[in-house]
Amino acid sequence: MLVVAQDDPLRIIIIGAHPDDCEGNGGTAALWVEMGHKVKFVSVTNGDAGHQDIGGGALARIRHAEAMEAGKILGVEYEILDNHDAELMPTLENRKQIIRLIREWNADVVISHRPNDYHPDHRYTGILVQDAAYLVIVPNIVPDCPPLKKNPVFLYAQDHFQKPNPFSPDIVVGIDEVIDKKIESFAAHESQVFEWIPWTYGGLDDVPEGREARMEMLKAQYQPRITPQIREALIRWYGQVAGSKIKYAEAFEICEFGSYPDEEDILRLFPMIKK
Ligand SMILES: [Zn+2]
Repeated sequence: MLVVAQDDPLRIIIIGAHPDDCEGNGGTAALWVEMGHKVKFVSVTNGDAGHQDIGGGALARIRHAEAMEAGKILGVEYEILDNHDAELMPTLENRKQIIRLIREWNADVVISHRPNDYHPDHRYTGILVQDAAYLVIVPNIVPDCPPLKKNPVFLYAQDHFQKPNPFSPDIVVGIDEVIDKKIESFAAHESQVFEWIPWTYGGLDDVPEGREARMEMLKAQYQPRITPQIREALIRWYGQVAGSKIKYAEAFEICEFGSYPDEEDILRLFPMIKK
């Protein structure tokens, strides 16, 4: 397999709604980074609503620091936009901001939420990114920022929502060798994974003390199980032997509005897949 030369690295931008959403793709991100490619995480909101005791600017500052730590663990650049949490709308102004970010990163690959997610911020982030696909090459849109020469490949990150259509694992990446790094990047979001999220389901008292037990909790909660469809996709991409053994994976669905990659393109953009 040909690995893309390090002096011409791939450029990937992952756009999530909240500080801690991009980390769901943290395994694939870490593998790209280890191979010399450039990955940027963007949180479209500042996360200032996600806690039971703290809020506003004080919470946004905590979450900014947590995100920077997570970015350091994975080796990615991290930017947080100053939009309020739980108030994001798919406005023209926000669309232009997303177009600018994708262009400035000169992205080959753009990853975001599907627009049929449970959280309105996830849905509208998905819409904003989808709306930027194609427009990133149009010179008359955001004319002070040079357009991309080629429409990137746009992908949706994995989710479990079924309606109106379930997620389709078009591309799947085995992440066994970086699972601990991914879990550590989640653990950096302490205010979320050990405080706010357990509080939302009444599990705050069950969060264990001690780093090891907490890591085990996160590994069980934050890594989606390998469904029969994901296993099938792993075997398709890695072959029967390797594909059957992989324990942890991240999957992506191709968005039809970007450049549509064929198998050769996918293997070039995902050089960690060893077919
Ligand atoms: Zn989120």
